[in-house]
Amino acid sequence: KVTVLGSLNVDTILKVQRLPKPGETLQIISKQNAGGGKGANQGIAAARSNAQTSFIGKIGKDENGKMMCEVLRSAGIDITNVTTASSGTGQAFILLQKNGENSILVYGGANQELTAADVQKAKNKIVNSDFLVTQFETPLECAIEGFKIAKNAGVATILNPAPAKKIPTELMQNVDLITPNETEAELLTGIKVIDEKTQCLAAEKLLEFGAKNVIITLGSKGAFYQTKNERGFVPALRVDAVDTTAAGDTFLGVLSSQLDKDFSNIKEAIKFANKASALAVQKLGAIPSIPSYKEIKRSL
Ligand code: ADP
Repeated sequence: KVTVLGSLNVDTILKVQRLPKPGETLQIISKQNAGGGKGANQGIAAARSNAQTSFIGKIGKDENGKMMCEVLRSAGIDITNVTTASSGTGQAFILLQKNGENSILVYGGANQELTAADVQKAKNKIVNSDFLVTQFETPLECAIEGFKIAKNAGVATILNPAPAKKIPTELMQNVDLITPNETEAELLTGIKVIDEKTQCLAAEKLLEFGAKNVIITLGSKGAFYQTKNERGFVPALRVDAVDTTAAGDTFLGVLSSQLDKDFSNIKEAIKFANKASALAVQKLGAIPSIPSYKEIKRSL
């Protein structure tokens, strides 16, 4: 059982020839909406990998909010604790250039209105889970409150520190597993992660800060992990990536659906999550690219 506390965004993908210069007007080639937001992506990934999943988040009273509820509901996610705010539903505008580069503008909207009180109202869901998963696209106070409730009830906590920000001790002391990518690991530790030695150093630093276990995802290289007793590296699969959006979210959601609460099967869980994200990067979009348990198994 997994509870995801986090962001819900509608991704508006705008295909353009190139970015407009200041003062210039350009035509958009095509426009497409898809479900996204780190929270939603991670929740969908967990649910598609057969975890019983519930969600804590906020949407606006608008069509995008209805769309995101439908996206979660159709994946079988419990949305009792998705409530409404006065701001609009979160939205990301993705300017996808012909050369494949993308530039993103994010409207936090309702995600920014989630409060510690909302998390408190979802206490029942949290304490009845095996894992509570969160990121930094909703206010920090929500993560702090959620992890406090989780730890008091013996629920394991996973923090995906994205987008990276300084993590207060109040939160870090309740983190069972932290999962930065290379950029986030550098921002948090000041150590540039470029090889095995720096992976170890950065992980050691995160343990010093108070996290109990660490996974650093390394993009097309794979993932490095460090627990109290074990450290290792699991290579990624070699595939032709067409869109790496949500690779990390797929990895994390699938990981949380497979992990044992004591992290004793971390290597096996990472292997499975690597396969899932290798499938995701071969498809366009965030939520549309996240594979099901069956698809991951079939690819083994
Ligand atoms: P994020 O998307 O958060 O930046 P990463 O880029 O580190 O995270 O990717 C997360 C995981 O996705 C990696 O650990 C790896 O398993 C998988 N992955 C990412 N990019 C590729 C790729 N090009 N080929 C295969 N697997 C990939």
